[in-house]
Amino acid sequence: MEVKLHEITVRQLVDGYENREDEGVVGFGGKLDIRPPYQREFIYSADKQKAVIDTIFKNFPLNIMYWVKRDDGTFEVMDGQQRTMSICEYYCCNFSIEKDGYLKGYDNLTDKEQEDFLNYKLMVYFCEGDDYEKLQWFKTINIAGEDLSDQEMRNAVYNGSWVNNAKVWFSKKVAGCPAYQIGSPYIASSVKINRQGLLELAIKWISKGNINEYMKQHQHDKDATELWNYYKNVIEWAENLFGKPRKEMKGLPWGEYYNEYKDQEFNPEAIQQRVDFLMQDEEIESKKGIYLYVLDGKEKHLNLRQFPENIKRTVYEKQEGKCFVCKKEFEFEDMEGDHWKPWHDGGKTEIDNCRMLCRDCNREKSGK
Ligand SMILES: [Zn+2]
Repeated sequence: MEVKLHEITVRQLVDGYENREDEGVVGFGGKLDIRPPYQREFIYSADKQKAVIDTIFKNFPLNIMYWVKRDDGTFEVMDGQQRTMSICEYYCCNFSIEKDGYLKGYDNLTDKEQEDFLNYKLMVYFCEGDDYEKLQWFKTINIAGEDLSDQEMRNAVYNGSWVNNAKVWFSKKVAGCPAYQIGSPYIASSVKINRQGLLELAIKWISKGNINEYMKQHQHDKDATELWNYYKNVIEWAENLFGKPRKEMKGLPWGEYYNEYKDQEFNPEAIQQRVDFLMQDEEIESKKGIYLYVLDGKEKHLNLRQFPENIKRTVYEKQEGKCFVCKKEFEFEDMEGDHWKPWHDGGKTEIDNCRMLCRDCNREKSGK
């Protein structure tokens, strides 16, 4: 990323200033996009606006601003939108500030005061680089400025028709977020929809984790129908397969399950009976893991109960400190409790089903 410091006068900045509300705000001879779509709404308080103008009248420095240079030679404000707008709005006489005991808008200033105002120099970094570098810059300057989420930054960098449409489906502000309406039983409550968290999740699923790559590829698509359809398929697949919503479903990586198992034939009725049954099994400590377990059959997802210390200690004493398999003596700390009859054959975590093995024998037995 190439970064150069420039001095821009207020005169240059306000040249051609136009605030067309939703259609954008431009300045700097029409070459500066002051409020690109990803920027926050203008939420500067009146006091802060006045403080900016007061700083200029006193000829004190304002913080450095950042502009991104676009391929076509125009710029967009990356950092400093609110300061920029305060200056321009004052110039357009849209508010007044107290100066020498009088409330003065720009057109009440003396000629000399107007000249001083227009000649004030702003420090602006021009940043040039590819999308990835731009993303890094957002992260860097956000340390000091506004706190954007990762996905808000990506939306900024890859902004365009695709993002605008994706937000209609996945962002809360618009129409109560259709994606959450259909997917709420499956989405963790920690996902911040208004900070683009659900959009991030959906892209992560469809792209198998390559979010930036996906957004780059689709940046100029006319809409995000592909993503929306994919997401709907994920939710429908989970609904059809697992039926009634349970709280354990929330926050599981459903897109990953869908990607992996969507083409396999499952019998939903059998799957649901199996889930119902397993949910009642006290040996299973991770009930969330049941969903993946019924798909891939791996017991490690279930976090099955281990023998507690008191049972292991008793059995250790009964075995006189010897490993049940190799018969060698070990310290208690170097032995592990093993289920004589394994869980999948109905073995429980009870003292009668416990035997103590040395680590090597236990590893060999379980084929780990
Ligand atoms: Zn052993």
